[in-house]
Amino acid sequence: MTEISNYIGGEMSAPSDGAFIDDIDPSTGQVYASVPDSGEEDVTKAVDSAERAFAKWSSSSPEFRHDVLMKLSGLIERDLEKLATAECVDNGKPLTLAKAVDIPRAVSNFKFYATAAMHFASESHSNAGQSVNYTLRQPIGVVGCISPWNLPLYLFTWKIAPALAAGNCVVAKPSEITPMTAFLLSELASEAGVPAGVLNIVHGTGPKAGASIVRHPGIKAISFTGGTKTGEWIASEAGPKFKKLSLELGGKNPNIIFADCDYDEMLETTVRSSFANQGQICLCGSRVFVERPIYDRFREDFVKRVRSLKVGDPLEAETNVGAVVSEAHMQKVLSYVELAKQEGGAVLCGGEQVRIEGRCEGGYFLAPAVIEGLSHDCRTNQEEIFGPVVTIMPFDSEEEVLEYANSVRYGLSATVWTGELARAHRVAERLESGIVWVNCWLLRDLRTPFGGVKDSGMGREGGFEALRFFTEEKNVCIKYGP
Ligand code: NAD
Repeated sequence: MTEISNYIGGEMSAPSDGAFIDDIDPSTGQVYASVPDSGEEDVTKAVDSAERAFAKWSSSSPEFRHDVLMKLSGLIERDLEKLATAECVDNGKPLTLAKAVDIPRAVSNFKFYATAAMHFASESHSNAGQSVNYTLRQPIGVVGCISPWNLPLYLFTWKIAPALAAGNCVVAKPSEITPMTAFLLSELASEAGVPAGVLNIVHGTGPKAGASIVRHPGIKAISFTGGTKTGEWIASEAGPKFKKLSLELGGKNPNIIFADCDYDEMLETTVRSSFANQGQICLCGSRVFVERPIYDRFREDFVKRVRSLKVGDPLEAETNVGAVVSEAHMQKVLSYVELAKQEGGAVLCGGEQVRIEGRCEGGYFLAPAVIEGLSHDCRTNQEEIFGPVVTIMPFDSEEEVLEYANSVRYGLSATVWTGELARAHRVAERLESGIVWVNCWLLRDLRTPFGGVKDSGMGREGGFEALRFFTEEKNVCIKYGP
């Protein structure tokens, strides 16, 4: 049993009141580590140590911060195997996915923001012959970073890297359901020479440790990724205290397939965009709209492909679909399959628990589900399920599918498959979402703005957007003379 520690002031420490919670391997259902159940006292210690470190870190040169963050990136790359295995065990995702996506992306996050720190610049506005204004972008102070369980190290570092690159000190909390790689990162942070107190990692539950971060008066900005309900609470708590907020929340993304698309590429990518990471990626397309002329063909081919996905031990190389993250989450997903049936849906494949023999017999495995026969406005098609469940629906016109696609409260991402350039632009323009993928999915360029509209959140991560979020602008106006 591994006992996870908090990382405060550059030191590993147990929670103040000695309380721990269980960390469960979802592929076996067994407890395999303990996680600090930290509270207000631990968060206060972390904020104090971050405040002490701030003056030196915030006034260090971009080059110094670059060197430290590049070193950290290199150490993550060095430990890729170990970190990928830890992510797989903690989250239930296939090891192949953790090796190919999760950990390499954590490497890139630090690399990207290490270099961004050296290129970040601000504006100046000259008023010819009279005055000049220039804008300083200064680090905010101590900032809070709170992340979810679906892409643990990937999303944790996506916040921490720009916060540190911009010169802030950080108090971060990973999900209590998947804390292991954040714990391993704290060991690497010391090795990389991140000065004590610059990065603090406090483990624990949302209502206890998370809420303490949100409420602490020393935390000046909060970058949060997670559910919309949690985001609402954070906004209600932090808003009146005028803390800066970046909220990346839930989604219910449409995948719109026109008959003139490149069928084979669409089919292959749609299997991935539906079920990668057991459908537990905020960008997964869970509502698949297919133009009527190819609906029957798609339905047959798609279901055949989905049935052939191997659900199994996440550590095995041939596994396509691992375990969902927890028993509670598995029950939630199963309850949505039941709801879909009650709402008149026909389950074309999957939707049931899968029992795996041997090591994984106690794990939380689900067969990926494809459901048809539902209206766009039923609960199954309006609420976020965040698991291996998609619905497929036919449509007849662009106008109609835009209405269906935009009918949800969410607006994170959308996918469009078409061979017609003008239509791609037209539809992209009218989709209510922060991100549109055309003839692709999750083709990431870290320079681009990332985030959602409507109840999918506020603010954008990525590129210089994140450095702007993690800095405070100050305008300085200079008059030339009398
Ligand atoms: P969650 O909201 O339950 O938890 C996210 C994090 O917030 C965890 O660390 C949790 O401990 C913490 N938390 C919970 N309650 C809190 C509180 N009151 N105060 C402070 N912190 C609190 O979400 P989850 O179940 O871990 O993640 C799944 C959700 O995340 C889905 O809705 C998914 O769409 C969303 N998500 C969004 C994006 C995006 O980029 N928009 C990316 C990944 C996941």
